[in-house]
Amino acid sequence: MSDYLDRLNPEQRASVETIDGPLLVLAGAGTGKTRVLTTRFAHILLTGRARPHQVLAVTFTNKAAKEMRERVADLLGGPVEGLWLGTFHALAARMLRRHCDLVGLKSDFTILDADDQVRLLKQLMEARHLDTKRWAPAGLMGIIQRWKDKGLPPARIGAAEDSDYADGKALDLYRAYQARLLELNAADFGDLLLFAAEILRTHPEILASYHRLFRYILVDEYQDTNLVQYYWLRLLAQAEKNICCVGDDDQSIYSWRGAEVENILRFEKDFPGAKLVRLERNYRSTAPILAAASGLIAHNAGRLGKTLQSGKKDASGEKLQVLAVNDQDQEAREVVERIARYRNAGDSYDQMVILVRTGAQMRAFEERLILSGTPYRVVGGARFYERAEIRDALAYLRILNQPADDLAFERIVNLPRRGIGDGALQTLRDGARGQSIPLFLSARRAVDAGSLKGKARDSLAKLLLGFDRWRATLARDGHVIAAAEMLDESGYMPMWLEDKTPEAAGRVDNLKELVRAMAEFESLGAFLEHVALVMERDAAEGEARVSLMTLHAAKGLEFDIVFLPGWEEGLFPNQRAVDENGNKGLEEERRLAYVGITRARKHAMISYASTRRIYGTMQDSVPSQFLDELPEDQIERIGLPRVQQRQPWRDDFAWSGSVAAVAPRAPQARKFKVGARVFHQKFGMGTVVGVDHDKLDIAFDHSDTKRLMDRFVEVA
Ligand code: ATP
Ligand code: MG
Repeated sequence: MSDYLDRLNPEQRASVETIDGPLLVLAGAGTGKTRVLTTRFAHILLTGRARPHQVLAVTFTNKAAKEMRERVADLLGGPVEGLWLGTFHALAARMLRRHCDLVGLKSDFTILDADDQVRLLKQLMEARHLDTKRWAPAGLMGIIQRWKDKGLPPARIGAAEDSDYADGKALDLYRAYQARLLELNAADFGDLLLFAAEILRTHPEILASYHRLFRYILVDEYQDTNLVQYYWLRLLAQAEKNICCVGDDDQSIYSWRGAEVENILRFEKDFPGAKLVRLERNYRSTAPILAAASGLIAHNAGRLGKTLQSGKKDASGEKLQVLAVNDQDQEAREVVERIARYRNAGDSYDQMVILVRTGAQMRAFEERLILSGTPYRVVGGARFYERAEIRDALAYLRILNQPADDLAFERIVNLPRRGIGDGALQTLRDGARGQSIPLFLSARRAVDAGSLKGKARDSLAKLLLGFDRWRATLARDGHVIAAAEMLDESGYMPMWLEDKTPEAAGRVDNLKELVRAMAEFESLGAFLEHVALVMERDAAEGEARVSLMTLHAAKGLEFDIVFLPGWEEGLFPNQRAVDENGNKGLEEERRLAYVGITRARKHAMISYASTRRIYGTMQDSVPSQFLDELPEDQIERIGLPRVQQRQPWRDDFAWSGSVAAVAPRAPQARKFKVGARVFHQKFGMGTVVGVDHDKLDIAFDHSDTKRLMDRFVEVA
């Protein structure tokens, strides 16, 4: 039974067998960090050090959690129950449900998604007569999220953290927002960890009970934890200090969500005597792919530094390909053709992935994949559950689960149209506010008291009776039958069945798919929690499919064949990331590129187009600077003639639309010199302090120095 240890190299084995005390494994992509963590889990159980539910294991994605569950089951020779294994959010939600009364929630609380959050914030702002055009509610959501990422409830926000959003009203709105969430018996994603950490911090007896429960703590993708996640871990690990974190600073790609790579340094401080292990052999990628990725990431300055060698016995392999195309349609065509060729040569679709920088790039590929009849799945994005019809159906289900869910109630009370107009709704809102009751109850009272009239009253009464009936069905026949009945009798499904627009049929299919998906869960509550947490459409079992996902969603995964399209300035590195965070943003983009390349086992192909449609207009684009940073001897350039590729002298040429040729343009004096005063739409006035081809380093008068493309600024 100990042969699982033989599948490890000596350093990996040492990390598995160093069971007691804090341990940090810091190592590059594909060096077996996740394998170490999984084996360690099994080792703890097999050596009888803890029972399955006494290990807390944190993964980064639900997919990774599933994979880890399977790997542990494999090692142990059968499935194990009751594991505390999942994402930070899933684990915190589970913990919070056990103690939710301490923060004023009931155990059936709803988890709101971003859409609901924004709607709620907008309502609160409107109630205060704030101009939501000038101050975007989504911006406020971002601010509140950052506070939550730092573990700060309203009461603990000091002057240093305060924001000048809406003339300093952000904190006040944050307070109101939290109060409103409690009234709705709802929590947002940030609350899950914020509350879980607060409960541990303020209730020593509860903390002690978890200290007794969790003998061992395992954390994957540690470089992407944010502060509140770190606090939560630190509290839980405080007693036994049996915590093992694995991570790679070069793969830190979530700072925009509050992740702090400094947590790696904090670990060694907070857990004195922590052992540090480095793994240096990459078992995933061929030597050229690994060399290309290493060469690229070497351009980052802020690194903890590490070396990586190929651990594969056969160190040969195909070079990383870099394909030049005219436009995104050709790009999609070329990629899908290669997919077909690989498939004909015996590779499985399951082993192929297309990794895009932004969701908007997906459509061109989806169209091509559909056209060619290639089975595919979109992973990681919220695509399926974000569709309007799915969100509507989920609103019905949420009310069925929890009548106090006012947001859901507002969404469907007049959907399909039942003659419950704004006036009627306002009556219900007033009633709810006046009596401090949920809208659902207010509706019932309004119907009983006759404060609504005519059609509005009749159809509302019918809807409420419907919910009573569906709730009875739920209790009697279970959630799947109740859902089908509700979608039918409420008129929602019939609305789409009668709809003659082209998308209607697809919507009906999606709704059916939704009900089908529910069957996999033991209860309605479990299903809704899954939806809130996963927001990811699992592929139908069995059939092999090509995966399409964002680079961010691909962390920790691996594929034989990886396509990396859209390597163009502005798209990747992404202009917004660079605008907002200057060189730091650029380095994070580079890490993202590193993550992308290192997903590949055997083949990787980057592509870039010389024109791209952005918001409907064709725009010329410039190859990504990352292409120049790849070691030339590890890549093979294919596609359009060499002249098309980025050259130092390219400033003197204009790209000519979709035509493959390049037309020289009269040499032009550079517009910007060091010392020039410039103006930027968002950052205002600044002084050029550096010029690198078409990129400028600008010291802004009211912001720090940023690196921007020159076309985004004007001479002041
Ligand atoms: P990432 O940084 O991308 O998350 P990782 O460090 O977690 O990567 P793993 O996914 O654990 O790496 O391992 C990469 C691949 O190498 C996997 O296919 C794994 O099974 C394989 N592998 C790991 N260790 C060994 C080993 N000692 N011998 C052979 N193969 C190994
Ligand atoms: Mg991993």
